[in-house]
Amino acid sequence: MVPRDSGRAVPDSQRLKDLLRRIDGRSYPAYRDLKGRWELGGLTLLIDHVQGDPFAAPSKVRVRRSVDLPERMCVDPVARRAAEDWLLRRFGAGLKSERRGSGKSGQLCVYQPGPEVIERSAVRISADGTVEVRFEVGLPARGRRVLGEQAWALISEDIPRAAEGLSAGPGLPAHVQSVVDQCALREGLVDAGLVAFLAEGAILPRTSGVSQAPMEGAVPLEVPDSLRVTLQTPSGPVSGLGIPQGITLIVGGGFHGKSTLLHAVQRGHMDHIPGDGRALVVSRADTAKVRAEDGRRVCGVDISNFLGALPGGKTTAPFDTDDASGSTSQAAGIMEAIEAGSRLLLLDEDTSASNLLVQDARMRALIPREAEPITPLVERIEQLHQDWGVSVILVVGGVGDYLSVADTVIAMEAYVPRDVGAEAAALAGPAPEPPAPLSAPLKRVPRREGLEPGKVRARDERRVDYNRNEIDLSAVEQVLDGAHAATLGHALAVLHDHVVDDERDLPEILDRLDHLLDADGVDVLSSRPYPDGRLLRPRRLEVAAALNRLRTLRLSRR
Ligand code: ADP
Ligand code: MG
Repeated sequence: MVPRDSGRAVPDSQRLKDLLRRIDGRSYPAYRDLKGRWELGGLTLLIDHVQGDPFAAPSKVRVRRSVDLPERMCVDPVARRAAEDWLLRRFGAGLKSERRGSGKSGQLCVYQPGPEVIERSAVRISADGTVEVRFEVGLPARGRRVLGEQAWALISEDIPRAAEGLSAGPGLPAHVQSVVDQCALREGLVDAGLVAFLAEGAILPRTSGVSQAPMEGAVPLEVPDSLRVTLQTPSGPVSGLGIPQGITLIVGGGFHGKSTLLHAVQRGHMDHIPGDGRALVVSRADTAKVRAEDGRRVCGVDISNFLGALPGGKTTAPFDTDDASGSTSQAAGIMEAIEAGSRLLLLDEDTSASNLLVQDARMRALIPREAEPITPLVERIEQLHQDWGVSVILVVGGVGDYLSVADTVIAMEAYVPRDVGAEAAALAGPAPEPPAPLSAPLKRVPRREGLEPGKVRARDERRVDYNRNEIDLSAVEQVLDGAHAATLGHALAVLHDHVVDDERDLPEILDRLDHLLDADGVDVLSSRPYPDGRLLRPRRLEVAAALNRLRTLRLSRR
């Protein structure tokens, strides 16, 4: 019972201080009494979950405060997402953990974003300008005993100090404007007949294979005149390299920057922070990288456009396996990406099954047609574009067969792109004989059975445990980190609980999930009774990729 003093309520800060004094020295679970909401002079502290002991995962808390933000940043989805991202970075930078006892005592941590500006659950702005941050604290202990005074210092000093960062500051308008501009560029792609756009001067390479920081001293992107386009943004026109719809090859010698260009395009469906070097590099929102991934499971995917009947009479329409080969995995990846809605596929020869890309004349002479089940992509790629509107950007260093089917050919020479379309056309032989018409993707209806979530947890950056099954996302290059991987697991759980009904097919299921996320935000994916600060808004393509890799996925046979 809250003690009353001549009718006036005791302020929460006093009650909290008293509580901590009272439980000081008691065994750690006494901290459970902290759960709930505390008004601490302009700052609301919500303690959602108290850790079981000082060495367990830290306690889950939120702080809320009212921030004087421009109205647009509270109501416009794009501006709000950008402002949330900016506040998260600022809050994170201001977070200083003090050592306040044993184990994780005094630790403060919030989700650390990469350079992408994505809708995340760590910071939320409400329409009335209230900002809420979700983070973790290690409640102080000596051994397994409550350190009440240290806990009070953490709550009354460390947290308010970090929360000071939750205010509009000088960098905020430029951050928001940059994201608004990137969205405008991306939205302008279709009207300009493009699938990707890379602004002149962009810095594409990263510091290393394990860092997303821009490389220092890199050669800024140059733009050949014939591929130069100018797109409009609210901040004015931007000039850069436009990659048109259709089939684009990126060619050139080894180590000249081909894969680096493709990697930048591959991240272009996301916005980036100013200073990243790729803040004006955009690609279609439905861009998908597709690579070979032997060993993966494939469930009921029609891959007959690329592979006819396999040895032993095994059918490929649909194709099922628990252990795909390089070519079957990549063929399935292409069909799955198209099924989930992608109209821009990215392939890099470095990570492709070479027999799926081409078969050269001598090999064709050696292996009779009847014994070779593969129809290589080079024979299908024009149909993909003409019949289904799917564009492809392909990095090829060594296979010239694609020259005869390419609409655009970009050569990378010492990191400088050059338009070699005319030279390529002169060298190109006749286009390959068109094979039989494409067969449309099979309708796939996932079943609830096999999708029971159980416990969902990221095992590492690229693998999720889903009800004791591991979903391996290591070949899904768009997955950013462990939080992203875990989010995909949570998304499958939501599909099981609210969407999959043994009737809807996969695109319908993905539509439903998008509607849920549009209506209620990324918090719908929390698997806890309180908000989870480590979620990000998943794209349908990655959700489909996770579902397609779940080894217990079953389809309705209708
Ligand atoms: P390729 O695919 O043509 O073999 P990569 O794209 O892998 O080449 O690039 C080779 C190396 O060159 C990588 O270490 C990459 O970081 C570096 N690199 C790429 N683009 C640039 C650039 N614009 N300036 C400086 N270094 C670059
Ligand atoms: Mg390469």
